[in-house]
Amino acid sequence: MNSCNVCQAETKNKCSNCNQVSYCSVQHQKQDWKSHKSNCHPFRVAHNELLGRHLVATRNIKPYEIVLKEAPLMRGPAQISVPVCMGCLNAIEPNDHITCDKCGWPLCGPECQALDEHKAECQLTEARGQKVNVQEFNGPHPLYTCVSTVRCLLLSETNPANAEKFQQLESLEQTRRGSNQWKADLASIGQFIPKFFRTQKFSEEEIMRAVGALQINGHEVPTSDPPHVAVFYTASFTENSCVPNLAKSFTKNGHCILWAPKAIKKGANLSICYSDAVWGTADRQRHLMQTKLFKCTCERCVDVTELGTYYSALKCEDRKCTGLLLPIKADDWNGCWRCRDCQKQVQRKYVDGILERAIKDIQSMEKTAENGFKYLKHYEKWLPPQHYHLSEVKILQVQLIAKDQKELMVLPDEQLQLKLKYAKELIELYEILAPCEVRMLGTLCFELHSAIAEHTRRVALQSNLSPKEMLEESLLYVEKCVNYLQYESDIFVEGHILKQAKINRDALRMVIRIS
Ligand SMILES: [Zn+2]
Ligand SMILES: [Zn+2]
Ligand SMILES: [Zn+2]
Ligand SMILES: [Zn+2]
Ligand SMILES: [Zn+2]
Ligand SMILES: [Zn+2]
Repeated sequence: MNSCNVCQAETKNKCSNCNQVSYCSVQHQKQDWKSHKSNCHPFRVAHNELLGRHLVATRNIKPYEIVLKEAPLMRGPAQISVPVCMGCLNAIEPNDHITCDKCGWPLCGPECQALDEHKAECQLTEARGQKVNVQEFNGPHPLYTCVSTVRCLLLSETNPANAEKFQQLESLEQTRRGSNQWKADLASIGQFIPKFFRTQKFSEEEIMRAVGALQINGHEVPTSDPPHVAVFYTASFTENSCVPNLAKSFTKNGHCILWAPKAIKKGANLSICYSDAVWGTADRQRHLMQTKLFKCTCERCVDVTELGTYYSALKCEDRKCTGLLLPIKADDWNGCWRCRDCQKQVQRKYVDGILERAIKDIQSMEKTAENGFKYLKHYEKWLPPQHYHLSEVKILQVQLIAKDQKELMVLPDEQLQLKLKYAKELIELYEILAPCEVRMLGTLCFELHSAIAEHTRRVALQSNLSPKEMLEESLLYVEKCVNYLQYESDIFVEGHILKQAKINRDALRMVIRIS
């Protein structure tokens, strides 16, 4: 028995959403809702030595359920940023903007000057006694490097409740101290802020802690162009996994939504990917070490086959062998690689040579379907079909082969088959490897559903049959698309795809019902 959160009476009834608070009656639950609401999540914050604070599911979570929706503690320009509006954080038009009449920072219009977000650097700049003067708009601007740090430092004045939460975030200051990044940050932010703003308000230590907390906990938020950085409080306790159980979406106003693309069992730790789940293991690990300062040991990282997908493997150097090359030790991607069939070892130079060429060629390739085919044909000599470089190009191909409905109608059969094949293989691969990559999966499902629909149309033309099964398959993928993209705002391309997908889904349901 537990006691009611309102009257302390003994009761068995718990809040069914969070499973953590008890109530004797519906009435007491209703009465308490206003104060309980902000803490009512299907998880609890737990703590242990290894993970520090982390989140554990307190009940079974259904597919597509929202687990957390949260406003940022603070947001601001990325550390490397072109001049952006200090209100909405969108890039500044050199010929069409105003400057704040108090501080001189560029703004896109008077509406943005009035936004609370701008207060921090506005007051600090005003106190400096001299307005800022931004004249260069073409590249990253050094003045912007410190802005988000200033916003964090001044939270205690602009938003004390958020300041208290920000103080609790990990900054890894001890680990960071002395690294090259830390030294660069010290010069461009730590020593810059007191000098530029002519203030003794913040100690160097305080500034560097804020810089660290911002880098360790900052999320790139794509609701502005260019994307800005934001810090979320509860979301920052989700641990990292390269096969995470949560996907991340953003609302129009930059709030983050963490949700479950697949069912999550009660008691499971909640995770997001701090890196990019579409990258191979060596790249993800390098990135995590550089930016978040730790070595990932998730189930995907300790398994060189990456859950049996062989996503980072190369073909055996011996052309007669069909085996795949992978590192001998899972925790050493920079060591020797060996064929898993013939056991032949290759030099590190061999692996690096292939991968370096493969990435350079993607970067320099003009993105057309024809170039994509050439790339795939060339690199399949060294890379197995599911390799991350080939997969990256196939993702492009799915969109480049017939860019719209018109092109799809006249697409040669052979290319339509390739579009179908790539989309199907990629969806299968990434549903295992990166179910959190919902925008990519949703887009692939949309492309696949329209390719299947077109294929169905062609079959029907030739045979007079009504291929109901094929229509049902098309419906299946458009429904998947709607599920994957359901939280995408209409300011994103994916939000537009979602809208079209819903229309197509309803039309398909109708056709299937009457056929
Ligand atoms: Zn009660
Ligand atoms: Zn609750
Ligand atoms: Zn603006
Ligand atoms: Zn201002
Ligand atoms: Zn990992
Ligand atoms: Zn071999």
